[in-house]
Formats: sequence, structure tokens, C-alpha cells
Amino acid sequence: MQKQVLSQQGEFVCPECNSLSAYAETRYQQVFHLFFVPLYTVDERIGYQCTDCETLFDESVFEDQVNQEETRWECAKCHHKWPATNVRCPICRTRPTTAAK
Ligand SMILES: [Zn+2]
Ligand SMILES: [Zn+2]
Repeated sequence: MQKQVLSQQGEFVCPECNSLSAYAETRYQQVFHLFFVPLYTVDERIGYQCTDCETLFDESVFEDQVNQEETRWECAKCHHKWPATNVRCPICRTRPTTAAK
């Protein structure tokens, strides 16, 4: 398996580290060799490797983060945004208005 780090890099919330980490887009190639001559690419996929824990993720790691962002609710009183797992605002104890409907 050949590993090639592509140019695209950025930051994401790594599910393994559970914190904001840097990632590097990485292309993995499995090339069919015959007498040490690379003939053709058997398998190729793009992954995103956390530079902290070196765990490889696929694109769905970003989809999860988009979903998390969408399900956030904003407190009507203090205007802080909280994840859907928070049933009420930890600061002023207000419940989300969307859930009350
Ligand atoms: Zn990580
Ligand atoms: Zn609040």
C-alpha cells in the first residue's frame, strides 16, 4: 500500500482525539506489481488522517460534523449555541424553543 499525502490540509474535530486537530488528505494506492514493475492500480482511495493520533477517516467524518452543526440550537436569552445533546442552556437554564413546539 502506497501512501501519498496530498496538498489539502485543514482542521477538523477528530472523533478519536475528541478535539480540534489538523488533518492531511491522504491518497492510498494499492498497485499491482509484477517482477517489481508496477502494472496498474488495484485500489485507490482518499482518506483524511489526523496528524495527532494518525487515525485514518473517510469523508463521512466531515458529514458528521455538518450534521452536528445543523442540530445546534441557539439560546433565546444568551444567544449561545449548544449541541442537540444539551436539553437546556447551561448558563441561563433555558430550554430550546424549537423543542417546545
Ligand atoms: Zn486524532
Ligand atoms: Zn442561555
